[in-house]
Amino acid sequence: MTLIVLIIMLLCWGSFLNQLAYRLVHDNITLSKSRSTCPHCLTNLKARDLIPVLSWCLLWGRCRSCQHSISILYPIIELLTIVTILPIFYYFSVTYWLAYFIFCSALIITIRTDLETFLISNLVSIYLIPLGLIFSYFNYLPVTVINSGLGAILGYSLLWLTNFMFAYFTNKQGLGTGDLFLLAFIGSFTGPIGCWLSLLLGSLLGSLVGIMQILAGNNQFSGKIPFGPYLALGAITYIYWQDLILRIML
Ligand SMILES: [Zn+2]
Repeated sequence: MTLIVLIIMLLCWGSFLNQLAYRLVHDNITLSKSRSTCPHCLTNLKARDLIPVLSWCLLWGRCRSCQHSISILYPIIELLTIVTILPIFYYFSVTYWLAYFIFCSALIITIRTDLETFLISNLVSIYLIPLGLIFSYFNYLPVTVINSGLGAILGYSLLWLTNFMFAYFTNKQGLGTGDLFLLAFIGSFTGPIGCWLSLLLGSLLGSLVGIMQILAGNNQFSGKIPFGPYLALGAITYIYWQDLILRIML
């Protein structure tokens, strides 16, 4: 029973993260504008159209009024919220729940905004770094406050250096500033080792998907891929497997 209630609550949370992600990058509408509207015909959505996952499936991914397609990212993000956040309550000690809940929620928002618009909001990256420091200071994260600070610095520096080298040799811009802030944020919650391994896991995942796209002969593959979602998934993988990964490494 508790599990079902938890799943329903997380589906609603996922729906909220979707809205927040959409509004962060698409318009200046403040969150106080509470009614949800179709972005194409601006019709106010009814309560029955706002049921997470289910509404999207029942409407076959189309708006009830204008029939315009609704992004498949909506149900994906809602399901990802469950898969990512639900294990927190079973896997970690209660001390870490709040910190990891905020961490994963921020990463889910980044996955959505970066996939859709190649943008990462400062609100869910650099602005949350102080929170990583505070949580680790009060032992709400399994890293020391020094490691949290070092992780943030390392995250920014690693990607800044990568960008600098890439620009030096190719005269092109590789990563966006958003990616630098994102890895700094990840570092502030996971420390230097977590930051490094999140980058490694994210790069591996990104390369795999890139290779698969090329092998599949995807004509639309432009060579430009958002790196944020891979970093985010790398970080999420790291927090769940950190004990095992560190045991193997050390
Ligand atoms: Zn519409």
